Amino acid sequence: MKNFLPNEHVQRVLDITPAKLKDMGIKGIITDLDNTLVAWNVQDATPEIAAWFKDMKEHDIKVTIISNNDKERVSIFSEPLETPFVYSARKPLTKAFKHATKQMNLKKDEVVVIGDQLMTDVLGGNRAGFHTILVVPIVETDSKITRLNRMLERRVLAWMRRKGMISWEEK
Ligand SMILES: [Mg+2]
Repeated sequence: MKNFLPNEHVQRVLDITPAKLKDMGIKGIITDLDNTLVAWNVQDATPEIAAWFKDMKEHDIKVTIISNNDKERVSIFSEPLETPFVYSARKPLTKAFKHATKQMNLKKDEVVVIGDQLMTDVLGGNRAGFHTILVVPIVETDSKITRLNRMLERRVLAWMRRKGMISWEEK
């Protein structure tokens, strides 16, 4: 069960700043796309998200997008940001996380994993040995498979709350 527990929980990806990451000795980010950076049905980065990528780049923090979504979705979003990406990543399998870290030429403990789902992003990131940060999903509506994950997720979160493993506010 511990593998479902993120190291941190924040409201939005924009709350994660270069200053905060540098304090932690972090040099790279692996982030999910759908409902983490933009809503799953939004094609392009918002100006705020584009600025966040630029800010990271200016502070020498590398960012790789890894998504279970298909090539078209992930490349159309990522290419304008000039950021590396992995599509069809099959999270929570750990292969894509390891691959991305190697591509960034960083070590595990220099990278954080950010995502909105316990069953894919947090589980995968934890299993691969990264510091994981859970964000609140941008929109509630989602694809069918994600709805199933959400249902499981609510159960895991409820269990963790009962066990006193969760300290953050309920949304
Ligand atoms: Mg997501």
